[in-house]
Amino acid sequence: MNRLTGKTALVTGGSRGIGRGIAERLGREGALVAVHYAKDDDAAKQTVAAITDAGGRAFPVRAELGVPGDVEVLFAALEEGLRAERDSTTLDIVVNNAGVMGGTAPEQITPEQFDRLIAVNAKAPLFIILRALQLMPDGGRIINISSALTRMALPQELAYSMSKGALEQLGLHLARHLAPRGITVNTVAPGITDNGSEMLQQPEVREAMAATTAFGRLGEPADIAAAVAFLAAGDGQWLTGGVLDVSGGTLLG
Ligand code: NAP
Repeated sequence: MNRLTGKTALVTGGSRGIGRGIAERLGREGALVAVHYAKDDDAAKQTVAAITDAGGRAFPVRAELGVPGDVEVLFAALEEGLRAERDSTTLDIVVNNAGVMGGTAPEQITPEQFDRLIAVNAKAPLFIILRALQLMPDGGRIINISSALTRMALPQELAYSMSKGALEQLGLHLARHLAPRGITVNTVAPGITDNGSEMLQQPEVREAMAATTAFGRLGEPADIAAAVAFLAAGDGQWLTGGVLDVSGGTLLG
C-alpha cells in the first residue's frame, strides 16, 4: 500500500464523496495529497484530518471551478501548499474529480445550465491539466472522472452526459499527445456511487439503484478509489487513453 511514496497528487473535489475516497486512498498509498474543494471548509478539513490521522500528508486547496480565473486561483494555492510541505512544486498526479450533475429534462435545459456543466465538468479539467503540465515530471499520471452515463441513456442527464463525453475526448487526445513524456491519461467512469447524498440514503432509492448493478449494491467511494490508485501507480505505465468502467457491471444485461 505504499506505491505512491514520494509522489504528490491533486484531487479536485477531494473533500467529499468519491473525491474524498480517492484522496484518502492516495494518502494511504504514500502521496502528499492536495484536497481541493469549492465552498465546504469543514468537509475539506475533515478529509485532510482523516489522511493525516492515518499517517499520511495532505493540505486543503480552495478554488471554485467554472468561474473566470479559477485555474489561477487553484494553482496559486496548490503551489503555496506544495512549497510549504515539500519545498518543491512538483505535481506527479492529477485527478480531475470535481463535477456537477444536471437532473433537468431535455426541454428544460437552459443555455446557462449547459454552460455551467461544460465549464465545471469539461473546460476546467482541460485547463487544469494544461497548467499542471508545467509542474508535472515525465511519467506523471492524469485521471479524469467521467460517468457510466456516457454509455447509457438517461434523458434528465443529457447535458451532464454531454459534458462527460467531452471529458472522455480530452482523455483520448491528450493521452496520445503526452505519451512521449511517459505521462498517462485515463478516464474512470463510475456508476451510481454512494457519495453520502440524502437521496441515496432512502432505502427505496438504494434498492432500485443497487438492482441495476451486477453485484446488487451501490458503489462506494473506495471502489472508485481502488481503480484510480491502480492507474496512478507505477504499474499503470502501459495503460493510456482508456476509459475504465467502474460501475460494478451496471446494466450488463
Ligand atoms: P459530490 O459528493 O457532490 O462532491 C463534489 C466535490 O466537488 C466536492 O468536493 C465539491 O466541493 C467539489 N465541487 C463541486 N462543484 C465544484 C466547483 N464548481 N468548483 C470546485 N469544486 C467543486 O460529488 P460525487 O458524487 O462524489 O462525484 C464526484 C465525481 O464523480 C463527479 O465528477 C461526478 O460527476 C462523478 N460521478 C459521480 C457518480 C455518483 O453516483 N456519485 C456517478 C458517476 C460519476 P464543495 O463541497 O466545497 O462544494
